[in-house]
Amino acid sequence: MTPRKIVLTFPKEKIDKPIVYKLIKDHNLTFNIMKASITPDQEGHMVLEIDGEAAEIEKGIKYLKDQGVKVEPLSKDIKVNWDKCTQCGVCVAICPTAALYIKDRKTMEVAFDAQKCIACELCIRPCPPRAIEVHF
Ligand code: SF4
Ligand code: SF4
Repeated sequence: MTPRKIVLTFPKEKIDKPIVYKLIKDHNLTFNIMKASITPDQEGHMVLEIDGEAAEIEKGIKYLKDQGVKVEPLSKDIKVNWDKCTQCGVCVAICPTAALYIKDRKTMEVAFDAQKCIACELCIRPCPPRAIEVHF
């Protein structure tokens, strides 16, 4: 059994449903929530490590998709090229998990917490100088 790391995106109408609970209960899987960002009335994001028999994992992923949850493998790393960053703050307003955040309110310095990043890539295109990079 090899654990799989997956990124789940929950539509806002599903974030209060016990979808992950049922995934684990009905598919004989174990899990570890690596990151989660759930805000009422907004999309929810979760990075999950699931372990179990391969067939059960596949059934579990099908169950999630049937529930309207977007499921993607966690296989990307996001990096900020601080040499290019102009500290404009555009990405801070976009990032759903606050991985990009204002570190200092006085200087409005932008910082990046890789531990919170779910590699959703929402920040990539809006960044004016293309300072945010995806590494596979
Ligand atoms: S990819 Fe960008 S927008 Fe998405 S969580 Fe990571 S830093 Fe935030
Ligand atoms: S959008 Fe790009 S340039 Fe602006 S603060 Fe974020 S990383 Fe820096």
